[in-house]
Amino acid sequence: ISPIEKIVPDQNRVELGNGKVLNYDYLIIATGTQIHPEELDGLKNGGWRQNIFDFYTIDGAIALRNYLKYWEGGKMVLNIVEMPIKCPVAPLEFVFLADWWFTQQGVRNKVEIEYVTPLPGAFTKPIAARFLGEFLDKKNIKLTTDFNVSRVDSTKNKIISYDGREVSYDLLVTIPTNMGSDVIARSGLGDEMNYVPTDPKTLQSKSYENIFVIGDAADLPTSKAGSVAHFESEVLLENFLRVTEGRKPAPKFDGHANCFIESGFGKGILIDFNYEVEPLPGKFPLPGIGPFSLLQETKMNHWGKMTFRWLYWNVLLKGGEMLVESQMNMAGKIRQEYMLKGERL
Ligand SMILES: Cc1cc2nc3c(=O)[nH]c(=O)nc-3n(C[C@H](O)[C@H](O)[C@H](O)COP(=O)(O)OP(=O)(O)OC[C@H]3O[C@@H](n4cnc5c(N)ncnc54)[C@H](O)[C@@H]3O)c2cc1C
Repeated sequence: ISPIEKIVPDQNRVELGNGKVLNYDYLIIATGTQIHPEELDGLKNGGWRQNIFDFYTIDGAIALRNYLKYWEGGKMVLNIVEMPIKCPVAPLEFVFLADWWFTQQGVRNKVEIEYVTPLPGAFTKPIAARFLGEFLDKKNIKLTTDFNVSRVDSTKNKIISYDGREVSYDLLVTIPTNMGSDVIARSGLGDEMNYVPTDPKTLQSKSYENIFVIGDAADLPTSKAGSVAHFESEVLLENFLRVTEGRKPAPKFDGHANCFIESGFGKGILIDFNYEVEPLPGKFPLPGIGPFSLLQETKMNHWGKMTFRWLYWNVLLKGGEMLVESQMNMAGKIRQEYMLKGERL
């Protein structure tokens, strides 16, 4: 086993770091996305892993956990450097769980939490942004929007935006720039962020008919999430078989994403959406029954996430089926036009 050094799509070959060459008829790219803290001026200077941490790497998460164990309190700032990032709800989940953990430790009154995002709201889509913005407020977490960070001044413990605003911190938790794998850049297969241009509905590479792309590696306009990769896999398998039989791939992928957001205190929030439909309130998967609630905080949602963890390791990884369809279903969702009139479907 060796890392991939280069993909040579014109010759249908993959070159490994140990010099081996793998020839292919068809290739599925699943190289994900990685963080690049060096992309932000000053992020990796003095404060890195001193009072600046990420949690998108195992090392970063462990270092942050160790730091928090002995932290006496102060101002914790969560900053998303730029979009897109993998799992856009993970930073929200982090501050919700931090609020819970500080409360449990009896130090919440010594900690100020600020959520600083380049987005105009707490989330990428308006209805969820409104709900999650109010939720942050309820938890006494300050929301600072439209903050496009230009640099970190770790000598003065502050982040500075392009429009000159400054946010000070004692502890900075950063979601650095996310980029596709370097191998995609080395192979000339990516866009400027190293994501592979991919047909959003068929999951076929836009440049090579014998290449498919799954998961975070693709440049699709949906969330970079494990659930998305899972739903994509069903469409990709069908299209892969179609192409091997000389047929056209079917434009079936709808951008379906389904994300539990742990909110602490044994509760959670669930969102379900696709390319066309933003996260809406309602019940999931059964209309009126649930048992899960969309865009609401419930204990059942938390248990849904816990159950999913078991399902993931014991069913999905063994190739078992999940009961949720790969295409998003409107059943149980309260449509926006009805919401505006205050009516339910
Ligand atoms: C903190 C956090 C919380 C999250 N929570 C959720 C959640 O609750 N629900 C959800 O659905 N998603 C969640 N996600 C997102 C989810 O983890 C990703 O979307 C998912 O793992 C993407 O799968 P992938 O296979 O595309 O990429 P990855 O899982 O990143 O896998 C890509 C693999 O390719 C390898 N690779 C890259 N380049 C090379 C190379 N040159 N040679 C060899 N190997 C290479 C990488 O090492 C990696 O192992 C979360 C992510 C984070 C960071």
